Amino acid sequence: MSKFYYSKLKLLIQTNGINIKNIESLYSTLDIVHIDTNKITINIESPYGQIAVYTFLDSTSGIPFENITRNIFFNKKLGIKISIPLKPHIYDYEIGNKNLDEIINIETSYHLPLTASNYCYYFKNNNECKFCAINTWRDSKSKSINKKIEAIKLATNEDSIKHISITTGTLNTADRGLKIILKFVEKIRKEGIHLLIAIECEPTSKTEYLKRLKDMNVTTISCNIEFLDDNIRKQLMPGKGSILFEEYLFFFNECVNIFDNSQIYTNVLWSKFDLFNENVKNRIKLLTKLGVIPSIGVLYSEEHSQLGMVLKPNIDTMYDLHLFNAFELKKNGLNPLKAIAGCPKNSSYSAINEFYKEI
Ligand code: SF4
Repeated sequence: MSKFYYSKLKLLIQTNGINIKNIESLYSTLDIVHIDTNKITINIESPYGQIAVYTFLDSTSGIPFENITRNIFFNKKLGIKISIPLKPHIYDYEIGNKNLDEIINIETSYHLPLTASNYCYYFKNNNECKFCAINTWRDSKSKSINKKIEAIKLATNEDSIKHISITTGTLNTADRGLKIILKFVEKIRKEGIHLLIAIECEPTSKTEYLKRLKDMNVTTISCNIEFLDDNIRKQLMPGKGSILFEEYLFFFNECVNIFDNSQIYTNVLWSKFDLFNENVKNRIKLLTKLGVIPSIGVLYSEEHSQLGMVLKPNIDTMYDLHLFNAFELKKNGLNPLKAIAGCPKNSSYSAINEFYKEI
């Protein structure tokens, strides 16, 4: 098996999606959570264990798989098996007349992502990021933080989650929403929940909140620049794209002084618009030198967003970008395999871990 075989395979599946013949007829036996969204997490069976991949169903360009047993599928040409995780029994529960799947959505690796607030200031003037639909997320139906806390307790007692991440829409305040996250974390800790926590926020000058989060045992932080090219940032994120790269650098610098090594991340999304040029290379160098891990993934535009589709990137470019990134991470002593919580720990969105292991 050639070097980077599974890294490339993950990129291939992330970019093209999968095509399972007559999948609709399998829904009742498969019992998959949230299959109606068309997005799905699968596991590639590999000699090194299962590799989780967040992808989508596409009956035209998707990699074809045939059903061999209940939730196991096979591609003859590639000689690989994938499995689709079945709905865990915890979703049979209800909290206050609401099905649990309307309140929480447990992801791979026992990860529970939560939203402190689904309000984002940028939606107000149609300045929202063109791939985002935070206002329609499943958990937006349950605005009650208390219900979410009850759900966390239930999922913890049932051993269904081991770490959580908390995000929020951007607020038109100096802290850009970080204070709401802080309050959510405070409430979780007051309820005696000791799970590992990651947070996702926008860069802010109110960095005093970071120390308080660290004191409450928040381990991991993501501040997502999303795109490294300024023109693409402005084009796809009319609101958030106006935040300068330098503001991110200032914020990351503060994070580095507070959080541990290999616990600071920034999402880098890749689509057909992106070019792997010198500017992108320089920014990866700057970020990794500072102590930030660029977590590269495919731009999956959400269904109810302005774009509403997957803008499939060029796989060769993504491959080159991942290799370059993995090399810079190693050079700067950063290790994404050490991520403690949140999406970086979940790792289904990015092939970063696979490239890092194989380089
Ligand atoms: S991704 Fe953009 S639109 Fe969505 S919540 Fe964040 S800042 Fe708002």
